[in-house]
Amino acid sequence: MDYFDNHIHITRLPHPLEMARELHERGYKYMSVACEPWEWKAVQELREKASAEGWLIGCGFSFGIHPEIAGKVQEQDLRDLTKLLELFPDAQVGEAGLDKRYAGYGQGGVQEEIFRRQAKMAFEFGRDLQIHCVGDYGRIVKILRDVGFSDVRADDAAGVKRPRPLFHRFGGDAGIVKAGISLGALFSIHADSYCKKATREALALIPAECQRFETDADETFVRDNAETPREVAERLVKTLLDTQKNPAQP
Ligand SMILES: [Zn+2]
Repeated sequence: MDYFDNHIHITRLPHPLEMARELHERGYKYMSVACEPWEWKAVQELREKASAEGWLIGCGFSFGIHPEIAGKVQEQDLRDLTKLLELFPDAQVGEAGLDKRYAGYGQGGVQEEIFRRQAKMAFEFGRDLQIHCVGDYGRIVKILRDVGFSDVRADDAAGVKRPRPLFHRFGGDAGIVKAGISLGALFSIHADSYCKKATREALALIPAECQRFETDADETFVRDNAETPREVAERLVKTLLDTQKNPAQP
């Protein structure tokens, strides 16, 4: 059986190269997300080594700047991100977004600016955008519209490939599902997406073809230093399957 984890930070797990092998052996495919400069490098290194072994067939990857570090970003980082997108035509952008727990969240703040610039990059390069939002989804939707995202279904029918917003670890309500669908969005469901009643109810409104599933596994997923890549891989499979099984019904 093949699995697809739409959002994982594989280079934040112990022994990423061994993890890539363990996951490959289980038919576990994934979108490997890198959301700050050190992680961009780590993902590129892993990509080189694991691809040579054939362990990344069916996997993808994404480069972006997380809202947590938006305030510390230099112009050079944004130039480097642009270069990465030029270098890797199959990479997505993100995760990028807004998070009320971190500095620069306010209206017109630095988080908004860094998100807007990445949304614009995604749109102009024609890449799907992995969106992180803890807080105001309405502002995210407005920025997506501002930079040019629009309903892609009409274009799909005409055979034109357009970039899609992808709501990672989705936690919005029914209004955001409707707004997202009008922009051709995908919704990536995490175990936490079932926690809030408004989100649980909204999940039922997402057409199956717009649903994705994810673990968002990073260093916090690992129980202790003694846990081997094999054990972590087995737990990832179980976590993803449990998330998929959870009925998207209120
Ligand atoms: Zn993440």
